[in-house]
Amino acid sequence: MSYDTAYSLVYVSGSQMVPQCNHPTSPTDRFCPSCGLQITAVHVVDIIERMLKETLAYTPFNEPCSWYTHVDDMCKITKGFPETIIALYGDGEESGDLWVKYFLNGKVQREQAEIIYPIFNKSKLESPTPGKRVKDSLRIPNKNTLQK
Ligand SMILES: [Zn+2]
Repeated sequence: MSYDTAYSLVYVSGSQMVPQCNHPTSPTDRFCPSCGLQITAVHVVDIIERMLKETLAYTPFNEPCSWYTHVDDMCKITKGFPETIIALYGDGEESGDLWVKYFLNGKVQREQAEIIYPIFNKSKLESPTPGKRVKDSLRIPNKNTLQK
């Protein structure tokens, strides 16, 4: 049995737009002479997603899946972007298994979500069907409303 989690990757801070590769290029190059990629800056999350797809041979962000090596993979990849903080959010199939892991330069901070139920507040009390007055829907048409 596998344990599936819905993963999402979010940029937090640091270098947001990064070069497609880190090969040396000259100012006149339009494409990287080493790997052939176009010399344009792209969003760091897009680069990380591409690197993960190459590592895993699947994309872990399209639908819930088992990605047991996510800490190792993310630590390895974020070493390539040492100034950038990336958050990986997880929503596991077990009830309440909500977490975030922050990655910076090969290290991870793990946090579990804290679920907070708001306290009782009398001013928030409402009828069973919000936006609809129960008495109206139960009212029997009288002579005045039928004439309209
Ligand atoms: Zn290159």
